[in-house]
Amino acid sequence: MRFERTLILIKPDAMQRGLAGEIIKRIENKGLKIVGIKMLKMDKKLVEEHYNKYKEKPFFPVLERFMSSTPIIAMVVEGIEAISVVRRMIGKTNGREAESGTIRGDFSMSISKNLIHASDSEENAREEINRFFKEEELISWKRIDEIIYSEDELE
Ligand code: ATP
Ligand code: MG
Repeated sequence: MRFERTLILIKPDAMQRGLAGEIIKRIENKGLKIVGIKMLKMDKKLVEEHYNKYKEKPFFPVLERFMSSTPIIAMVVEGIEAISVVRRMIGKTNGREAESGTIRGDFSMSISKNLIHASDSEENAREEINRFFKEEELISWKRIDEIIYSEDELE
């Protein structure tokens, strides 16, 4: 089946609130495999690249200050249909509207301070992974996937 990789950013509000562990725990509990993880501080240039399509939006200056305010954790996770799976786990952009059970739905009350970013398409995932990780920072490793997936799913 279709194994995908997707980029996750644990945003400054999650770092400030000590929710990084909770977020990583949910990702691991779900059965996604971490293949890259690091801490970094986004500078304005990187925020502009990452959220380029919102550059002209009125909320962009706030978003830029927020995303560069503290270090973040960037992760690449892998799994069958990982891109859509993680998007469902994070919930709607606005934390107030996100469903309970999702990360934003359980922990966020804001449209900007919404704790986590995740890639939303195959093309964006590829581009975003390359933006944050060098090839050698991504580690392919053998996990006992038979405990997570059925044998036909692994074919
Ligand atoms: P992300 O790209 O961070 O995973 P998303 O895909 O759910 O979030 P987008 O529409 O891509 O949402 O918006 C990117 C980010 O820009 C949001 O996570 C939020 O922090 C900010 N943002 C989007 N829309 C608004 C808005 N109307 N007001 C304030 N901030 C916004
Ligand atoms: Mg987005």
